Amino acid sequence: MAEPQVVPELPDSSYKFDWLYLIFMIIFHGALFLIPWTFQWSYFFATIALQATLGGLGICVGFHRLLTHKSFETYKPVEYFLATLGTLSLQGGPIRWVATHRKHHQKADQEGDPHTPNRSFLWSHMLWIFMNPDEKYLVDLKNKYAKDLQKQPYYRFLEKYNFSLQLAFAALCFAIGGWKFVIWGLCIRLVFTYHSTWFVNSAAHTFGYQNFETQDRSTNCWWVAFLTYGEGWHNNHHAMPSSARHGLRLFELDLSYMTIWGMKLVGLAKNVKVPTKESLIHLKAALKKKRDLMDPSLMSLMIKRKVNSSK
Ligand SMILES: [Zn+2]
Ligand SMILES: [Zn+2]
Repeated sequence: MAEPQVVPELPDSSYKFDWLYLIFMIIFHGALFLIPWTFQWSYFFATIALQATLGGLGICVGFHRLLTHKSFETYKPVEYFLATLGTLSLQGGPIRWVATHRKHHQKADQEGDPHTPNRSFLWSHMLWIFMNPDEKYLVDLKNKYAKDLQKQPYYRFLEKYNFSLQLAFAALCFAIGGWKFVIWGLCIRLVFTYHSTWFVNSAAHTFGYQNFETQDRSTNCWWVAFLTYGEGWHNNHHAMPSSARHGLRLFELDLSYMTIWGMKLVGLAKNVKVPTKESLIHLKAALKKKRDLMDPSLMSLMIKRKVNSSK
């Protein structure tokens, strides 16, 4: 018998396939074929450093743990600096990014989740990005889920000019190392950052284990955590979205949290939210109770996994 389908927000007439985005993706990915002719160790290490700064610090620490979940506080100039780094990862402006991710948490693997793998692995990984909703959907999405950022002129500026900022960054790469460095510092870096981020939505809702019985498919996936500076401990994160710390067990290395911890040490982060041992025990029991009461048809969609004890 066919399994029941939780229908995610399927594309309808208000969605248009984004051909322009597809062309950009083909260009960025096409740059990978130029690696044998453009490779230099200096470009390689510079690209890793840029990826760690713009992707790790900008997206993981800035867009995700700070702007989306407010898992710590920092000074406004530092917040804006991290948001600017994230914007240079060309994943759209911070307002849309944050709104989409908050919606994902609210509807995780249920109707309305923008990128659940219930539809298909490939959909959750990247196909959903090519379906561009109409303007009204975007306005409603931002108003509903990211009003706090909408109110701030600097975030509206980043939202509006995120592509122009990338062009300026491309010009900077060109000035530093010519076309070869544009290929590495922009195209290859972006491809790496894109797939790392996308694996959180696809692989970390498909492969791995669960520490908590969340009412979704979120998993802890070590190789996603390796690629994303700790974001792959995604089941822990779905259980406690506002925690700055995602890796909980000894082997769950979480470089993003270590960065936030380091920021706190030098006075750049305050009110860092981390769970206590007692709160973890209570949360585990509460989630288990909630999951036991869950609609069986929804339950059948969840991948049954042995729940590990993190005690
Ligand atoms: Zn998720
Ligand atoms: Zn999140």
